[in-house]
Amino acid sequence: MKALHQVGRGQGPTAADSARISALQRPATLDALEQGLFDCVVIGGGIAGAGIACESAQRGLRTALVELDDFASGTSSRSTKLIHGGLRYLALGEFAHVRETARERKTVRHLAPHLAQPCWAVLPARSRAALTLLRLAVMTYEHLGQVASEDRHRIWNSDELERHEPVLDRQRYPFACAYREYLTDDARLVLANLRAAVRAGALVINHALVDRIANRFDAHEVGVSCRLSGRRLTLRSRALINASGPWLEHLRVLEDPGARPVLQWSRGIHVVMPAELLPVQNVLVLRSSDARYLFAVRRAGIVYLGTTDTATQARPVHWPEIGSDELHYLLREVSAYCGRQAPALGSCVWAWAGLRALVAQPGRRSQDVSRRDELLVGAHGMVSVAGGKLTGYRMIAKRALDEAGKVVGGAWPKAPRKIAPLPGGAFDGDVGPLSATLGASFKLARECAERLSMLYGSEAVDVVKLDQRPLGDDGIVLRGEVDWAVLHEGGATLLDVVYRRLRLPLYKPNAVTSLLEPIASRMSDLLGWTEQRAREQVGQVEARMQQDLAALQPRL
Ligand code: FAD
Repeated sequence: MKALHQVGRGQGPTAADSARISALQRPATLDALEQGLFDCVVIGGGIAGAGIACESAQRGLRTALVELDDFASGTSSRSTKLIHGGLRYLALGEFAHVRETARERKTVRHLAPHLAQPCWAVLPARSRAALTLLRLAVMTYEHLGQVASEDRHRIWNSDELERHEPVLDRQRYPFACAYREYLTDDARLVLANLRAAVRAGALVINHALVDRIANRFDAHEVGVSCRLSGRRLTLRSRALINASGPWLEHLRVLEDPGARPVLQWSRGIHVVMPAELLPVQNVLVLRSSDARYLFAVRRAGIVYLGTTDTATQARPVHWPEIGSDELHYLLREVSAYCGRQAPALGSCVWAWAGLRALVAQPGRRSQDVSRRDELLVGAHGMVSVAGGKLTGYRMIAKRALDEAGKVVGGAWPKAPRKIAPLPGGAFDGDVGPLSATLGASFKLARECAERLSMLYGSEAVDVVKLDQRPLGDDGIVLRGEVDWAVLHEGGATLLDVVYRRLRLPLYKPNAVTSLLEPIASRMSDLLGWTEQRAREQVGQVEARMQQDLAALQPRL
């Protein structure tokens, strides 16, 4: 509970405050990065890097973060989007890890309620005996996570299932144990942390590849060299933290060609369909025929299924392959619980794949490898963050900074006890009331108000005030969102804005194509793109969508 009391309420940011990453300010940011001497430079703008930058800046350290592609363009936009302790890791005996992440759920919810929305995770049971076992596991989980009594699990019988989760085959699964978990938007959680870092004084930049690490210039400084289109940039820092997720080894070798590899990779895919095809109401937690856990997650008008866990040796890439056999597997396994035929692959609307970077445990199946994080200190003092989960990002950040502090050998300050909510998190409770007020105040369609509240939390009002005019025919996406993405969230390309800020492929997959031109046109006004440049940007997103959707096409 202590962490909750430390979170200050009602002092959150507004649009006018300093939590701004503006794509228009890129040249000024680059100059400042080059001129500064930093206490801590972070490589990688996924959730680990964003959390570290946030913690570092909040400790009062001069902080910079460099991201090769876009913020959250790696694994941190490809997760199942659950803020969870990982009930299944109890079976692997990882009590300390589960305790930590299960407790973190409350803090993330407090920092950004819109990015940790409570939901029921539903474990179906075939018999009373099976139900008892599930219940015992859930009670242990709740005990470790210090779950408040009002949030504790409930048992649903067949009648209650008919009311709360009618999609389940009640003949085969007449009972279920429903326990609390939280739904997030991973990419937007990254952006919120980066903006909180900037609010606390950090400098962050996307689309800048770190490709050289100069060993300590002297006892006190390390140099990091980055390549951007048309420019090379050198940063100087006391400490260096490598939070490059699946690319970790690449950076470790840049620092020390003799670094011993520690990672193994595993690919996880998800498939998205309109909720009408599989009307899941909550989050189903299902045991597959090959003894893995799968999720079916309801989000607004869509349901997504995930995830696979396929060991891969391939070089890490930002867009891992999506195998149609893996998609068929997900559809088949989940449908078996629902007593209905699997929706056809062709009726699904999007799919995504992500890479897990796991600390290798030779001899273990990928799904049994621990998700714990580990810190590695390189030959020249770079601290690398290996493994971990989205949910535990704050704890990973604290440990990484403490380790970096030891490396530089100074008195590294602690984070302040009272921390402000993340940008957008300055409200109590649920997004429901927030969305109702927003809709009534600005006369917005219900779907539009709900979408804005879910994405922007308490800042939704600032987004609407920027420009309330709709972008497409259905009036759900607003022009102000594009302005916000560019001026406050560092969106520099159309892909950045469409995929990771407006989140259109996930929540409005059928609307993406028709919205590309109007979004590119507004971005052209803001960023001074020529017509040719805008066309190229549209072409890039279309090509990306086509590749994402290729695995959904029926094979002839
Ligand atoms: P990343 O997000 O990959 O970030 C690394 C960043 O470093 C990238 O943006 C990359 O572009 C950048 N980078 C790489 N090289 C360089 C360079 N040379 N210079 C500059 N930048 C560089 N966890 C949960 O808690 N809940 C879940 O529901 C969940 N579901 C998951 C489902 C799947 C399928 C997968 C794969 C993982 C899931 N996880 C989940 C785990 C979680 O997503 C990851 O632990 C987390 O996103 C990893 O974040 P990261 O910052 O370490 O890596």
